[in-house]
Parts: sequence; structure tokens; C-alpha cells
Amino acid sequence: MDSDNTPSWNDSENKMIRDLEDNYLKELDIDKLKIEIELHSIYHPCSKCQEVISIFQKTYNAKIKIWSTEAKGNTRFIELYPNLSTKNN
Ligand SMILES: [Zn+2]
Repeated sequence: MDSDNTPSWNDSENKMIRDLEDNYLKELDIDKLKIEIELHSIYHPCSKCQEVISIFQKTYNAKIKIWSTEAKGNTRFIELYPNLSTKNN
């Protein structure tokens, strides 16, 4: 983690948001978009990525649901990935 408030370029969440903006959203009319994203990961996004996600949500009026197995009792994740075992499961 860097000491400043910029997410690591290599953080997956940051990469996905950049990829969305650079490759899919650039030419679209933001006012007409309805974006809903479900983000599944083992670890909850770090605070810097949460900030990036938060800015993205505000900019595009997007709904982003985050599922991570770090949250206890995440049955949704287990349903989706029954063969994936994690410490918390
Ligand atoms: Zn991160």
C-alpha cells in the first residue's frame, strides 16, 4: 500500500473500473446509463479501491454490490463457487 490516497494500479478492483471506463463507457451517454455491478472476490476491497468504487458509483450513478468471503456467512459466494474453499468457509 502506498502512503498517498491513490490506489495501486495493479489492484484488481481499480483495474476493472479503469477497464470499464476506458473500453466501454467513454462513448456512451452517461445520463442514459443504468449500471449494476456485482463484484465477487475473496478479499474485501482495500480502502483505496473502495474510494475508487465510491467515485465510480457517484459519477455513473451505478449500483455496485460487493461480495467477499471475508464477510462471515457469505452464503451467496458459496452458492456461486461451491468448489472453492476458503479459510472462512
Ligand atoms: Zn485495493
